[in-house]
Amino acid sequence: METKKIRVRFAPSPTGPLHIGGVRTALYNYLFAKKNNGDFILRIEDTDQARYVQGAEKYIIESLNWCGIKFNEGFNVGGDYGPYKQSERKQIYMQYAEQLINNGFAYYAFDTAEELEQMRNRLKAENSSTQQYDTITRGSMKNSLSLHREEIKKRLDSGEPYVIRIKIPDNEEIMVNDIIRGEVIVHSSKIDDKILFKSDGMPTYHLANVVDDHLMKISHVIRGEEWLPSTPLHVLLYRYLGWQDEMPEFAHMPLILKPDGKGKLSKRDGDRLGFPVFPLQWTNPETNEISSGYRESGYFPEAFINILVFLGWNPGTTQEIFSMEELIKAFSLERVGKAGSRFDPEKAKWYNHQYLVAKKDEELANLLIPILEEKGIFSEKDYIAKICGLIKERANFVQDLWEQSYFFFKAPSTYDAKVVKKKWKEGTPQILMELKEKLAEIDIFNASNIEENVKVFLEKKELGMGQVMNVFRLTLVGSNKGPGLFNIAELLGKEETLNRIQAGLDNIN
Ligand code: GLU
Repeated sequence: METKKIRVRFAPSPTGPLHIGGVRTALYNYLFAKKNNGDFILRIEDTDQARYVQGAEKYIIESLNWCGIKFNEGFNVGGDYGPYKQSERKQIYMQYAEQLINNGFAYYAFDTAEELEQMRNRLKAENSSTQQYDTITRGSMKNSLSLHREEIKKRLDSGEPYVIRIKIPDNEEIMVNDIIRGEVIVHSSKIDDKILFKSDGMPTYHLANVVDDHLMKISHVIRGEEWLPSTPLHVLLYRYLGWQDEMPEFAHMPLILKPDGKGKLSKRDGDRLGFPVFPLQWTNPETNEISSGYRESGYFPEAFINILVFLGWNPGTTQEIFSMEELIKAFSLERVGKAGSRFDPEKAKWYNHQYLVAKKDEELANLLIPILEEKGIFSEKDYIAKICGLIKERANFVQDLWEQSYFFFKAPSTYDAKVVKKKWKEGTPQILMELKEKLAEIDIFNASNIEENVKVFLEKKELGMGQVMNVFRLTLVGSNKGPGLFNIAELLGKEETLNRIQAGLDNIN
């Protein structure tokens, strides 16, 4: 038997920047497609004109590019099933809405906003459990099921605004089979006669989504949990449009939760707790308000992918670091959990750290060089690479490399007052002077020779480590920070080390 071609889609609405939850949905779709030699499609769902935000489409494409998530077909790359933007497919939807009306599965409704409001108020006053347009209420409203044929014709001919609503069946259990959640059963009385076509000539999400998934031959709908409540309606639409046998499979991803696990992660949590919730920095075109992005905060895209993939999926092993290739091999929807996944900002940094330390020293040097040049520091790449090798364990982000290494490029011009107060004793100048003489005798000025000589010096002078090392460090670094002191001295070189000790002697007291 011929197996069905796997085709999945990412279908964002351009209503603002893509939240990390959206990127995770795109990622899971991508991994699933690649793993199964399938196609991955980008479709822009822009039927809600009122919520359209300038720049959002460009942002979506740039974000996914940065992540290395690629499409076989779509709005940005073309393909055989286009157009891939819903606002360019209006005619297609109209035809299916009419088909639904002709077959008795949908109807015209002429109710005004006030009339709808009146209905809700009436139901509220009657203490009705629901206040919706449905099998119970539709008979008393103004629609093509309740009005006479001539009246309907008159209204349509005169161009009166109308919407098209689905006619939800009376008393039926509707079953959704979800790969992650199993069977989800919803009674039809819980669903209202949703609008399929709006008075502005645009379909709603529900109709457009189902029509497009069918026409684009989507095999699996992989999307966020927030769409699960809409799925019974979609199941009905597949049936009413005669596509029941070719209905895609559904998989609804768990929510991404706040760090404390209480509720869905929102933009405000990111601002409040100091981590980005968007892949790239976003400037709100109306307010000019800036929201931070992972890219601008110094995350590597590979690390970002690794952070995202674990928000809902696990490999069933202890492996935590995965390249995209490894993820494609390891990923399966069966290993995506139902429960919401807590976002852990510290773990996110940890992932970036793992990718940073795994980079070659030369590669890190290339990343640090622009930061140095901006500060007017021009140095040999070899030297910078050695420094990166020495300090990378202490950095999570490229920008941390500067904070961990500035003293290699500039001799201290000030000295940490606290350290001076605590460690700089009366005998210190004498000790440092003698240490300097001892260091001056070293031929091959490397960390092990320096260490060896310092140890001999301490023994001979009957001094403790604490009496010498802190002040030695203070002269080289200006504070008590930094990696191993002998390594620092080696990289600075003999001349610079001796100069800095002298400068310390001249300036500290
Ligand atoms: N346009 C919907 C969204 O913005 C897509 C939901 C779906 O994948 O069906 O999330």
